[in-house]
Amino acid sequence: MSSDVRIVWVYPDLLSTYGDRGNLLILARRAQLRGLAVEAIEVRSDQRLPDTADIYLLGGGEDGPQALAAQRLAADGALHRAVDRGAVIFAVCAGYQLLGRTFFAKGAKCAGLELLDIESDRGATRAVGELAGDIDPRLGLPPLTGFENHGGRTHLGPNVYPLARVTAGVGNDGVTEGAWRGKVLGTYSHGPALSRNPAIADLLLRWAIGVDRLAPIDDTWPERLRAERLAAIRAA
Ligand code: GLN
Repeated sequence: MSSDVRIVWVYPDLLSTYGDRGNLLILARRAQLRGLAVEAIEVRSDQRLPDTADIYLLGGGEDGPQALAAQRLAADGALHRAVDRGAVIFAVCAGYQLLGRTFFAKGAKCAGLELLDIESDRGATRAVGELAGDIDPRLGLPPLTGFENHGGRTHLGPNVYPLARVTAGVGNDGVTEGAWRGKVLGTYSHGPALSRNPAIADLLLRWAIGVDRLAPIDDTWPERLRAERLAAIRAA
């Protein structure tokens, strides 16, 4: 393998709503701007996931595809092996929920992958709109901004940290948003998440290649986008 960073977009045929594929593009671009050679692979749900990737990306999905994805990922087993050897997983919305113990899809309780100590049930209303929060200080990142659209509500167990404290929107439950443990990080933020939160993209890259810092790059455009979205919340 000659690439420095190998990124897998998991099941684009099932988990790919709200432009989440943009997360793959952002990661690849930000790695390349640092001179890193990137291999980006899209693996459909009828294919086996490679065991050797550095970063696995999961997107959002409607209930039916989400339940099918969870079954196929459990049967494949590659994500568990990936976590065991210290690979990075970044998961959005349906992808985030299915990393937990259980989630609800089409009224039925479904088994998740148990890679995060979370459980998801359904809320009284669908959470749709801007999402923002102050990220866990241990991660040292600027505020989270995103767009959310989900019926599920997520409850965190003792073995996982909230990704952020909600300042706008709902996230997990109106108080916290997302979760992380080790190098596994989940969020309800679409938008796509990494175009609106390039600092999270860089965190994932740092985890993947094992460095504390990456060379700075020109973030004028991402900063404009962030400022616009955060101002839209204040104006609402
Ligand atoms: N089906 C899940 C829910 O509604 C996730 C939706 C999504 O990924 N946007 O909670």
